[in-house]
Amino acid sequence: SPLAGGCAWIEGAFMPAAAARISIFDAGFGHSDVTYTVAHVWHGNFFRLEDHVERFLAGAEKMRIPMPATKTEIMDLMHGCVARSGLREAYVNVCVTRGYGRKPGEKNLEALDSQLYVYAIPYLWVFSPIRQIEGIDAVIAQSVRRSPANVMDPWIKNYQWGDLVRATFEAQERGARTAFLLDSDGFVTEGPGFNVLMVKDGTVFTAARNVLPGITRRTALEIARDFGLQTVIGDITPEMLRGADEIFAATTAGGITPVVTLDGAPVGAGVPGGWTRKIRTRYWQMMDEPSDLIEPVSYL
Ligand code: PMP
Repeated sequence: SPLAGGCAWIEGAFMPAAAARISIFDAGFGHSDVTYTVAHVWHGNFFRLEDHVERFLAGAEKMRIPMPATKTEIMDLMHGCVARSGLREAYVNVCVTRGYGRKPGEKNLEALDSQLYVYAIPYLWVFSPIRQIEGIDAVIAQSVRRSPANVMDPWIKNYQWGDLVRATFEAQERGARTAFLLDSDGFVTEGPGFNVLMVKDGTVFTAARNVLPGITRRTALEIARDFGLQTVIGDITPEMLRGADEIFAATTAGGITPVVTLDGAPVGAGVPGGWTRKIRTRYWQMMDEPSDLIEPVSYL
């Protein structure tokens, strides 16, 4: 099928994802006037789809982007793209932009028609599967800070990625795979496409401020509590991070990835941590539990 490599829904039609095109005048492209989420399908089931769509709807409301579909319709479209692609493991992006108006380059916000775009493509790993096992090298970015919540509310999942992209290049220049960004107060936030968690003496810590409230991190915290670990959502200093027993990244597009070095120094023993491995194993086991399965109602 031409949709096997991925299926998109744009302007009322399903089509091969690779053939999908949007207008150059779309405010999502021109002004990052957009919000989105990425959910995933594993072994044929969505994981926490409703959580993703709720966060997406809340983001759109904060951005005051009129949502052109209901929650059920959005979930149906996501299911529809997956079903048409035939993918059993998929990366499913839904975004809503302010759209574009009738005249080229229209700037009057009220004159723009918001656009919903959905696509399902083969599952993407922010870090390759081998990295899940062996771990990654990370640095704390020095050249750039994470944009603070009073600049870009991190609850609005947004394509404003300039800081994250620059931090990635810095990491590469320093011989690492990725970077963690500090906020303007010097606390650890997140990285390009993932939340950061650390384990110290049986407690899991993750940042409270200036981060996206990730669904994978929430899942990891739930798993950690099931294992009897304490969890703290609070401020993390670079010193705390350097002293961690374990560090891991959490994201929909890749799950739980151990971090084995930070700024060139070993994290803990310099190998993937025991809790990280347990949490990762449990995370992937959850994919086969049907509790979160949301059945498609109808296709638009
Ligand atoms: N932070 C940022 C900046 C992200 O882009 C992402 C995922 N796209 C995350 C954290 C992780 O969020 P989630 O677990 O909901 O995928």
